[in-house]
Amino acid sequence: MSQPLGILERPLRVAIIGAGPSGFYAAGALLQQKDVVVAIDLFDRLPTPYGLVRYGVAPDHQKIKAVTKLYERIASQPRFRFFGNIQFGRDLTLADLHCHYDQILYAVGTEADRHLNIPGESLCGSLSATEFVAWYNGHPDFVDLRVDLSRETAVVVGVGNVAMDVTRILAKSVDELKGTDIADYALDQLATSQVRNIYVLARRGPAQVKFTPAEIKELGELAEADIVVDPSELELDPVSAAEIANDSEARKNIEHLQAYAARSLTGKPRRIHFRFLVSPVEILGTDGRVTAVRIEKNRLLADAAGTLNAQGTGQFETLPAGLLLRSVGYKGTPLTDVPYEPRTGTIPNEQGRVKDPATAAVVPGEYVVGWAKRGPQGVIGTNRPDAAETVKLMLEDVPVLTPAPEPDPAAIDRLLAARNLPFVTIEDWRTIDKIEVTKGNAQGKPRVKFTNVQEILDVLGK
Ligand code: NAP
Repeated sequence: MSQPLGILERPLRVAIIGAGPSGFYAAGALLQQKDVVVAIDLFDRLPTPYGLVRYGVAPDHQKIKAVTKLYERIASQPRFRFFGNIQFGRDLTLADLHCHYDQILYAVGTEADRHLNIPGESLCGSLSATEFVAWYNGHPDFVDLRVDLSRETAVVVGVGNVAMDVTRILAKSVDELKGTDIADYALDQLATSQVRNIYVLARRGPAQVKFTPAEIKELGELAEADIVVDPSELELDPVSAAEIANDSEARKNIEHLQAYAARSLTGKPRRIHFRFLVSPVEILGTDGRVTAVRIEKNRLLADAAGTLNAQGTGQFETLPAGLLLRSVGYKGTPLTDVPYEPRTGTIPNEQGRVKDPATAAVVPGEYVVGWAKRGPQGVIGTNRPDAAETVKLMLEDVPVLTPAPEPDPAAIDRLLAARNLPFVTIEDWRTIDKIEVTKGNAQGKPRVKFTNVQEILDVLGK
């Protein structure tokens, strides 16, 4: 039976797993409220904080990264500790956390990606956008990814903002990228890229694209790439036209696409070709490498709920391709001993309270925020209200929670020391941050990232 926690005798001990935006917004909300004194330990498997802001946001979108200033302020609060380089499930188990913390909050995002589930997807040269993004952003796990930019044609599948990011990075000149924090090895490789044509494939029509107007507009401003859009593919069926009538973002997207279709090509060395109503059905290859993609023309068909879905027409076409990036959405991966919903790739929950999918009962003391909670949708700021929703429930549950048997903050340090697990503190991160920024500024860049975990630990003398 749960017993009331003596919350006035000691702070509520909360472990947050994942130092990305959702973890930081949740930490901020917990520390800001006045009802309960909270002490937070935030764990990340990487030695560096900020998750998707550091490794997901495009290097040429530095303004978005300024949000880390807020996270720095949260991390500066006295009852906040960062434990970088500590992996949940490997270094610390769920049982460990239940022993040391009153509440556990999963802020692990959605680390993996969705597949197309078509033949040829595992050929060399067929990658997920997630991998490609992590590679050019210097994520330590993706430094050795083999990215072949030696062929003339690349294909990007999907029309969300991630697809726009990877298309833009493939299409930009070195001059446009060299002042960013893109990984040096990626910039070197992009500098010798032979990619001239980038096909962006949408399975539905222009009214159903997922990218936002700012992103499609930006693509039209590149120094070395023209955009090719067939005006006939922008003609809307009556249902699509009705769908966008009250959707100003969708209308703006169409206006940008129409403007590109009307524009004359200016002879820039690269071309971005938008293709609508097509789906890849097979990735073709020779000697284990991608050489082409077979695509099928689609039509739109409304389902019972009125949603327009893509349906194949039986008309096929083959596009040559040396690189194929599927950008069809992220997907969460299961955590050891934590409920998981395989269909959505999320942690089953009710407004952030983790639920056991077998019994639908709430799992006491466990909570979730961010993409692990609601799936991979929304921008970074979406995580703020999302975190506030979960934090409200965490606070509501305080009177009925089971207190941690070992709440002494020093006990977790002792446990990690006993296991010989070097961890990175927030002060350590500040040291790393300073080195990266100093090195970057000397080269006219915002920072030069460390891309190797051991190197970070060595610099810190861990
Ligand atoms: P997304 O917005 O969900 O887009 C996924 C795209 O993949 C859609 O066009 C979808 O088409 C398509 N797709 C899915 N399955 C497919 C299949 N089997 N075959 C062909 N196409 C398929 O996902 P995302 O681009 O990964 O972005 C994730 C979130 O991060 C979004 O909320 C996004 O706005 C955000 N983000 C924002 C920025 C920014 O603000 N600059 C940058 C990057 C990401 P359907 O619509 O037909 O399903």
